[in-house]
Amino acid sequence: MANVPVAVVTGSNKGIGFAIVRALCKQFPGDVYLTARDPGRGQEAVAKLQEEGLRALFHQLDIDDLQSIRALRDFLKEKYGGLNVLVNNAGIAFKVHDTTPFAVQAEVTLKTNFFGTRNVCTELLPLVKPYGKVVNVSSMVSSSALGGCSRELQQKFRSDTITEDELVELMTKFVEDTKKSVHEKEGWPNTAYGVSKIGVTVLSRIQARMLNEKRKGDHILLNACCPGWVRTDMAGPKATKSPDEGAETPVYLALLPSDADGPHGQFLSNKTVRTW
Ligand code: NAP
Repeated sequence: MANVPVAVVTGSNKGIGFAIVRALCKQFPGDVYLTARDPGRGQEAVAKLQEEGLRALFHQLDIDDLQSIRALRDFLKEKYGGLNVLVNNAGIAFKVHDTTPFAVQAEVTLKTNFFGTRNVCTELLPLVKPYGKVVNVSSMVSSSALGGCSRELQQKFRSDTITEDELVELMTKFVEDTKKSVHEKEGWPNTAYGVSKIGVTVLSRIQARMLNEKRKGDHILLNACCPGWVRTDMAGPKATKSPDEGAETPVYLALLPSDADGPHGQFLSNKTVRTW
């Protein structure tokens, strides 16, 4: 199967991830993997696509679980010798009125949205084949949360030399600061989801820079994006876009033509590069 192109979408049993898989099934010339932390929900989603005449394959993936990530990595290595498209879509958000203590929300949200996404990247990026595409689903909320950071933090998050270790240190510090109730004094905005998505956007900028430094000749394009405000379990029924509309920008980035030399290392919404 080493010559069959393969695409993987995380957290794709429902919502935007499911719509991304649906679109890739129609447009990607290869095998498309719908992944889910719960195999039952995942298989159900695959069956739903089958009813639409679309063929997605399934693999379990819980991005909070390093063993699960590594099992997918080994499977892809063994069966396909790597992968061509990776869409990091899986994410969580506490509801606005959730009464869970903020420090707990911070820890839980960062665990999945930032640290889980980073672990997937650590394990799977080395497998991405030349001309591959990586899409990290962030949010416009990352931009507004950046605006709510202290000048010093903004400077760090916009830096073109920040390292992955420094970013991890900052994300860890946010969680620690919330536990001590000093996060606002330390210059953080009052949004755990927003900070987690700052992490995803900045991580994408760092990873793109690393690809430039270490794998320039491989022409891999890696970007972060916002899907828009999308009617899913996360955002609710009042959101403006359907899941299929929300999938448009991530799918555009996943299917950039092989002769494209950009966008790369950017943050996009509505298929347009935004200033970070
Ligand atoms: P959703 O309907 O709640 O779907 C989230 C998906 O992520 C579900 O499949 C969920 O699986 C999965 N997931 C959560 N934690 C996971 C984990 N540890 N491992 C694997 N999968 C996990 O949300 P959505 O609106 O489609 O959101 C998709 C992405 O878009 C997220 O990154 C979100 O932050 C981002 N986003 C959404 C909006 C919006 O307006 N909806 C706006 C900006 C950005 P389960 O079913 O098992 O929970």
